[in-house]
Amino acid sequence: SIRVRFAPSPTGYLHVGGARTALFNWLLARKSGGAFILRIEDTDEARNTEPARQAIYDGLKWLGLDWDEGPEKGGDTGPYFQSQRKPIYDAYLAKLEAAGRVYTEENGAVRFKFSRVPILVPDLVCGDVQFAATDEPDMTIRRPDGGYIFHFVNVVDDIEMKMTHVIRGEDHLPNTWKHIDLYRALDAEPPKFGHIPLILNPGGSKMSKRDEGASIESYQKAGFLPGAVFNYLCLLGWTPKLDREKFTAQEAVDLFDVSEIHHSNARFDMVKCTWLNQQHLRDLTGAALVAYAKPWLEQDGIQVTDEDFAARALETVKEKVSVATEFSGWVHFFFREDFPFEDEAMTKLKGNAQHPALLTALRPALQATADWSEAGITATINTLAAELKVKAGAFMPLLRFSLSGQTRGPDVKAMMLVLGKERVLGRLERVQG
Ligand code: GLU
Repeated sequence: SIRVRFAPSPTGYLHVGGARTALFNWLLARKSGGAFILRIEDTDEARNTEPARQAIYDGLKWLGLDWDEGPEKGGDTGPYFQSQRKPIYDAYLAKLEAAGRVYTEENGAVRFKFSRVPILVPDLVCGDVQFAATDEPDMTIRRPDGGYIFHFVNVVDDIEMKMTHVIRGEDHLPNTWKHIDLYRALDAEPPKFGHIPLILNPGGSKMSKRDEGASIESYQKAGFLPGAVFNYLCLLGWTPKLDREKFTAQEAVDLFDVSEIHHSNARFDMVKCTWLNQQHLRDLTGAALVAYAKPWLEQDGIQVTDEDFAARALETVKEKVSVATEFSGWVHFFFREDFPFEDEAMTKLKGNAQHPALLTALRPALQATADWSEAGITATINTLAAELKVKAGAFMPLLRFSLSGQTRGPDVKAMMLVLGKERVLGRLERVQG
């Protein structure tokens, strides 16, 4: 059955390109009932720190990309850290020696003798890629200090871990002939390769660490939903056969096909990613909506004690919010009586001669409203408007300013229903005082 892997080098964060590579491998494994393996390519000891490894695990877990074998999980083909596999590399080096394919230089470096024949890389994404016989110098596979080089350990691990497919970034395609040469020298069957196009930043160059949205952690910190980021990463290089761009992880698994991965580079677009988050956010209701918003509300000093009330408050602004960090600005007034008044709201409230009279009439009328429903409130306002010979709409901005301190916000009646009669009357009294 299919075995694929994500083989990051720990750099201290999970890059959006790496996450997408992991995602496509994960989709292939989940679609086929195969295995997704995490292997840490930590031969560069200086960078191989625990926080650097942790950043990879955290990012993958946040996106829901669970691995079947690897760190924290174990498995039959471990260890899953290259730093712990030296005896395996030594054994494979001995195989190459026995086959007469390596030699040691003066300084102690070990080089692999290229076969110097044309090599074809059949690629699931790029098609057949033909490499001419090389005139590069033979490849160092072990440094004088005994450390092994990426190309060698990468191939050895893919053999030992029984990979059937290697789906990775296009930046590795130019070296894949070297890998195939090694497979042949080791008398091993190469996996099926698929090289996925680069992700370019909006400026058109390869996305770098400094670009907005480059690290997966940044989405987490910015209030994105993991499911939306998952969805967005899928679209960076793949268009599922669907009539919409918003889809779930399960839909992606069901539809995934490596051969549909685009041949051209993907263009990163934060606006689209944010839009997708908004689409996913709209599916959240009740406890799930509260769970999503709560950490950000609390970060802004809003204590959520009544989850049901919070759910109803959040529901009134759900359509206006793109990412969770925006919730507080829209709903803070639901949670406190001492909410601030925008200057503009105050001016509008006090700046019209008619307003005090309208407000004075409104409070007893609402107090007398037995049916505190949208219909009941509407009937009260319509009746009062007719009595005072004003348009019913004239009350709406007054209510909005009085109840929220803001000139913009959720639907006024929705707000009144969530706040409840007592709070509404209290707030009207406050602005009249
Ligand atoms: N450690 C390599 C990288 O991060 C892995 C390459 C591969 O997937 O073969 O680019």
